[in-house]
Parts: sequence; structure tokens; C-alpha cells
Amino acid sequence: MSLERIDRVAVLGAGNMGHGITEVTALAGYDVTMRDIKDEFVEDGYESIEWSLQKLEDKEMIDESADEVLSRIETTTDLETAVADADLVIEAAPEDLDLKHDIFTDLEEYTSGDTLLATNTSSLPISDIAAAVDSAERVLGLHFFNPPVKMDLVEVIYGEDTSDEAAEAGYEWVESIGKTPIYVRKDVRGFVVNTIVGPFGGEPAFMVSNDEATIREADATMAHERGYPMGPFELGDLTGIDVGYHVRKEGDSPIPPITEAKVEAGDLGQKTGKGFYDYEDGDGADYEPEDAGDFDWLRVEARMINRAAFLVGEDVATPEEVDTGVQLGLGFPEGICRRGDKIGLDTVLEKLETLHEETGADRFEPHPYLEQLVEEGKTGEDAGAGFYDYADDELGPYHDLNYELEDGVLQVELDRPSRMNALSEDLLSEIDDLFSSVDTDEVRVATIEGSGDRAFSAGADISGFADANPTDLMDVSPGFETVNDFPRPVLAKIDGFCLGGGLELALACDLRIATERSSFGAPEIGLGLIPGGGGTQRLTRILGETRAKELVFRGNHIDADRAADWGLINRSVEREDFDDTVAAFLEDLRSGPPIGLKVAKKVMNEGQDASLDAALAMESQGFGLLSSTDDVLEGTAAFAEDREPEFEGK
Ligand code: NAD
Repeated sequence: MSLERIDRVAVLGAGNMGHGITEVTALAGYDVTMRDIKDEFVEDGYESIEWSLQKLEDKEMIDESADEVLSRIETTTDLETAVADADLVIEAAPEDLDLKHDIFTDLEEYTSGDTLLATNTSSLPISDIAAAVDSAERVLGLHFFNPPVKMDLVEVIYGEDTSDEAAEAGYEWVESIGKTPIYVRKDVRGFVVNTIVGPFGGEPAFMVSNDEATIREADATMAHERGYPMGPFELGDLTGIDVGYHVRKEGDSPIPPITEAKVEAGDLGQKTGKGFYDYEDGDGADYEPEDAGDFDWLRVEARMINRAAFLVGEDVATPEEVDTGVQLGLGFPEGICRRGDKIGLDTVLEKLETLHEETGADRFEPHPYLEQLVEEGKTGEDAGAGFYDYADDELGPYHDLNYELEDGVLQVELDRPSRMNALSEDLLSEIDDLFSSVDTDEVRVATIEGSGDRAFSAGADISGFADANPTDLMDVSPGFETVNDFPRPVLAKIDGFCLGGGLELALACDLRIATERSSFGAPEIGLGLIPGGGGTQRLTRILGETRAKELVFRGNHIDADRAADWGLINRSVEREDFDDTVAAFLEDLRSGPPIGLKVAKKVMNEGQDASLDAALAMESQGFGLLSSTDDVLEGTAAFAEDREPEFEGK
């Protein structure tokens, strides 16, 4: 059972998840058959795929036409036809154990013994579903998030009997469709992501039920001060209050009285017009930053961090996996283990102990792994170790960016895809740290790009602004300047949105290449702000005052072709030519003379701010300095001998 063998995929169910999984599978180039029990269900699912692919085509998000992708999708209502030749079957039928048992019993009959059998269940134990087949080692969970086309995360879950071979093949397959897998090594209720999100909604609901907080205080604090994409009650209304209620009921977890009351009254959230907020007669989730009050956010985060300690301590997942899971699956602004390390695990433990003592409620009981970390002095970032180790890596560890240094090319990836790589303070300080501590002798050229498929970087992360001190915000983050001053050429690879702080980071790079679908803008004025990462100055220098003021004053986006016309970027290219264009630039920069490029960059950057005389003096000084280098000897010799020079940076 290996990835090489997976050519044909069958998806069972054409509902919300099934049609989405079918679509992403076909997008990745696989042949896929989608099966449902009635023609009309299959047709509905297929139409949803057609609609979605057409949108992707219109927005130039895909390289092929929608029709080409559709040509890889077959549909049927016959199970045997769907799965007979499949190498991987993904079941996405309703969440009902008996139904799933019937399906897996049939799968045993209709598939060959080495077909990988996956279920997309959100809450049923994989082992219970696998009990229907004799060969349970080939059954695993592949838990996609809704909607699969947009959500990058897939949890790859081990049942009790799942073989490593099956789990690895599932993991590699998820990677092959361009999604991010995380292993869930034990079949725990809620897997990783839903284990963590439980207290996010549950604890504030207990606090409101006990009159210890209000709904608006909780939502305003969590969204505006702690940076979550929305408040817990707003989230409950969006997903359906009954959904969380049933999950708790099935898990025998205590149910907050306010949740019970809403379900009894039939006020289930947006879908019924009323939930924690009123969507018909009221303005919906209308909380404002100033509603935050002194809501005890630590109580909520401490419980989530305690759940993370359970997952890590019981070997269900690593801290990296937990953090990837909550960022991609829930849009958390940073990993929950990382947040624990920043708060201090001793503070978290103390909070839990106090609450446990005061209330006697089991949910506050600290997990032994959390106690162990604190006992060992691993209390977080300040102590040099916590969930993560902060001491032993020369560079990093980095949580919001990835980097690779190979053959003189430093490739940096902004890694906050759930936030369209918005520049948080942490991300900027990681950029600063990487570019100021990497060994420049090892680097000939650097690139910066965004992760995910939507943005280079869509702006600065303004979720931290509400409670920031204005004088703190007045300091331009050193990250931009460090990139600007990095003694090697830096190239921005832009595919998608490049806005606000993201645009400023791109401006701090020396060269910018973008796909045609990319868009550029400085939307800060719409927030009553101005660009704060050097944008007002660099735009003026690069574009001239007329165009710079248009961008900054109007706050509109411009497309890549106009950006190229204006000289904001070096090239605007079709997506299929993007990698080749970047590679051609990199080859020139990588093989160019390191000292020559360094001096050229310095003289050109600094010369802009000097008088022409002073700038010319800088240039001749640089020229003189270079004339004594080995690289110049090599360059002139190679020229005379009509061969390619080999510069060594001496
Ligand atoms: P859904 O009701 O939208 O779709 C289920 C589809 O399965 C329906 O079209 C139904 O006709 C079909 N079906 C019924 N019996 C079938 C059979 N024997 N063979 C093939 N198809 C059959 O449900 P959904 O939201 O797509 O959820 C499907 C699964 O994915 C569930 O296990 C659910 O827990 C899980 N899941 C859902 C979400 C979500 O947000 N909706 C997220 C992750 C996982």
C-alpha cells in the first residue's frame, strides 16, 4: 500500500463534504468517482463542483480549465462500480455508525484487499467503523474540514488497528493533493482540532451561565484582544448551537446551562434566525472592541492549553501538529502550544489549579504532562523550553515562517495561510531574526513567498491593534529594514494578494515577480491609518509621488499588469510561467559576484537618500573597493577567455 499505487479514488457521498473532497481530488490530477444513493443527490453534488470550478477558473486560481478537471470525475449510484478499481476510498456519508458499518461491510466485499479505506467522520471513533471489516489495518480517518476546497488541513487518524503503512500512504496522498496533513496517532474523541476547540466555546458558556461574564465581553475579548477570527458565541451561532450540544452529550461532557436553554428553545443560531445573538430582529453578532471589559481570557486559554498538554503528553500529536491543526483548522492566530509557551506554562498551571480548587470541576484538572513540564522548569519561551525547545537551534525555532537554505538560495515562506500570511508582530520579528542571524556567507540570494494559494501577504495583522499602546505602534518593525539592508539580493515571489504590510515587505525586497492574478494595494487609509512599514516612503521612491499618492490616498487595489506598467514589480507573468521566470532571475543572482551585488545594493539603496554628489562619491568608493577583489579578477579573466565566471565572493 503506497502512494505510487494510488491512481483512482472513490468518494462515497456527494453531500457537503463528499463533493468538496471529489473536487480537490480531481484538481490534483486524480481520476475520481463520486457515489451517492440517488441520482438527484449525485447531480446536486456534481453541479456544486461545476459551479465551484467555474469560479476558480474565472478567478484564475487554477491552471487548467474547469472542463478539464471535470473530465476526471465520474459519478454513479452503484457502489461496486464506484469502488471496484479504486486504490483509495473515502467515505463521506452521514454521521451514523450503523450506516457507516453497512458501507464498510460492503467495501470489504467490493474492493481488493489492499485498497486503502478512509472515513471522513468528525466524531465517530475510527476503530468502531473499522470493526465492520476483517482487514482493519487498512482503515484510517482522513478528516477534511469544511469546505474542502478552501480548508488546507486534513487530520490523518489512526484507528486501533491502522497500520503505519496505511497511515503513511494516506498522509502522502493528502500531501499530493496540496493539502496539509497532520497525524492523529490515537483514536481520541474530537481528534486534535475539535479537542482544542471544545473549551473555546464551552468555557465562556459556563462563565456566562454563572453570571461571571457577558456574551459580548467574551466575544469582544477573544476576537479583538486575543486575535481569534471570531468570538466563541458568534462561532456557536455560525456552526449551530445544537452541534456543540450533541458533541458534548455524546461525549458525556457537562453542558453549560445557557447552551441547554438555547437548544430547548430552538434558538440554534444563524440557521434559526436567533441564537446567542438575534439575526432577524437584531443586528446579529454586533459586539465592539470596547465591550471587552475584563473578561478572564486566561481561564479559556488555560483550558485549551491543558487539552494540548493531553494531546502531546499522551502521544496523540506533537506540539507542531497541534499548532498546525488549530491554525489551519480553526484560523487561530497562532498555535495553542506556542501561546502556552508565551503566556508561561507555570501561569497556566496555576490558573487551572486555582479554578480546580475553587470549583471542584473536573474540567480544570491539570493534565500530568503540564505538571511535568512545569516541574522540569520547562515553563515556556522565557525559560528556553516549554512545549517547544527554544534553546538548541541556531536559528529559530520559527513558528510563523519556514526557511530552507540550499545551494546559496535562502527560501523563506511566510507561514500563516489561515490568515493569508498577514504580518503579525511575531512573524515580523521572526523575519528580522532570520535575516539578521543567518550566515550570509552561505547565502547568495534570498526569496520570500507566501504559503497557501491565496496570498503573498494580505496585510498587517491588525487584531493586535485594539489593545496596543499607540507609542509602541509608532516604531516601524525592524523586520522591513532588515530585509531592505540584507547584504544579498532579496526577491519577492508574489502569487495572490500583496496588500498593506505585505506590500511593504515586498517593497523592502530588491526585486518583485508576480503572477498575473496578483493584486497590490495600500488599503490602510480605509482604516483611518497610513502604511506603517515604510510604505509611504518606498512607494514614493519606487513609483514617484503621483502614483504613490494614488495608491495610498485611494486605498484601491491594482492588478499585476498595471503594477508592472508602473514599475512596482519587475514582471507580471502567467501562473504556468511563474516558476521558470523566478528560476531564471535566481540563476543570475546566485551565480553573480556576491561582493559586487552587495555593493551595488548598498550604493543604490543609500544613494537614493543622498545628494547626487554624495551618491556618486559612494558609487566611486564602491567601485574602487571592488577593483581589488578576486571576483573582479575572475570576472575579467572569464570575459577574456570567453567562459562563464565562477565568483567566490572574495
Ligand atoms: P451531508 O448530509 O451533506 O452528505 C452526506 C451524503 O451522503 C448525502 O448526500 C447522502 O445522500 C449520502 N449518503 C447516504 N448514504 C450513503 C451511502 N450509503 N453511500 C454513499 N453516500 C451516501 O453530510 P456531510 O456534511 O457531507 O458529512 C459527511 C461526513 O463528513 C460525516 O461523517 C460528517 O461527520 C463528516 N464531516 C462533516 C463536516 C461538515 O462540516 N459538514 C466536516 C468534516 C467532516
